Amino acid sequence: METPSTPDEAEPAADFFKPTFALILFLSLLACTYSGKKTGKEQALLRSDTGHITDEKKPLAIAKKKKARAKKKIYLTFDDGPNKGTKNVLDIVQEENIPATFFIVGEHVFASHGQRRDWNRLITAENIEICNHSYTHAHNRYDHFYELPETVVKDMEKTREILLPATIIVRAPGRNSWRIDSLQYTDIKKSKLAMDSLQKAGFIVMGWDLEWHYDPKTFQVQNTADEMLTMIDSAFAQKRMRYPNNLVLLAHDQVYHSSADSLQLRTFIQKLKSRDDYELSLVSAYPAIRKHHLITDTIKTVAPAADTAKPVRMDTL
Ligand SMILES: [Zn+2]
Repeated sequence: METPSTPDEAEPAADFFKPTFALILFLSLLACTYSGKKTGKEQALLRSDTGHITDEKKPLAIAKKKKARAKKKIYLTFDDGPNKGTKNVLDIVQEENIPATFFIVGEHVFASHGQRRDWNRLITAENIEICNHSYTHAHNRYDHFYELPETVVKDMEKTREILLPATIIVRAPGRNSWRIDSLQYTDIKKSKLAMDSLQKAGFIVMGWDLEWHYDPKTFQVQNTADEMLTMIDSAFAQKRMRYPNNLVLLAHDQVYHSSADSLQLRTFIQKLKSRDDYELSLVSAYPAIRKHHLITDTIKTVAPAADTAKPVRMDTL
């Protein structure tokens, strides 16, 4: 009696599957080997599908980051407003959509209907920073003014209390002096005590690296837009600035009252904007000030500028 022999019957099948399995294994290995030999471009595409930065893209990203970091910063600052040139300056910086800082004189806000109107425009404008340039501007009698440090501090405090309670950044009238933590510079030694007193009172004193000069008799600019750009290039090339790669430019609102000079300002700004190596910024982003703010933010108790500046109503002035 023949008894079925399962192992014997199974044997032929096993023989059949062995080479098939080997073939599949071989083909799989081949497929794996092929995928491992994708071109660099294919690998980049595969990895970029994950949403992460690919190895191939990393050097490019780092290079871009370095380039962005290496941009030179320029801070456009306009002094002595509000005055008859402020409207033009504000129109231009807003139309060109660039950041600009105005160092205002407290007394000027209350001098006329037009100046009050421009002040109200300044405090509501975007991308604009308003800083303190004293209350009286020393009535242009600087030597006498700086002889009394406590008067200088009081003059700054008056503008701060009435108009700018949120800002501690000031510029001393008629003086290019600096007091930002360890960044210290005094242009006229007789004013040193007054500058030290401002810093002791909690103010940051910012001067400037380059000035767009004007004729004090005609109030016309002494340099064209192109000349200013050349001077800026040269200042960076020769590192003539208080903080490396950061240049503070001083200009005066009043000068741009004339259409010829306001055209120069617009041309200057347009040329600056076309430069990839320059970036315009507000003074609160100045490196030494930004660092300072990190420290003082925790003890800041004053209200935001816009809210507290609003009580300066035109009908009560
Ligand atoms: Zn001034």
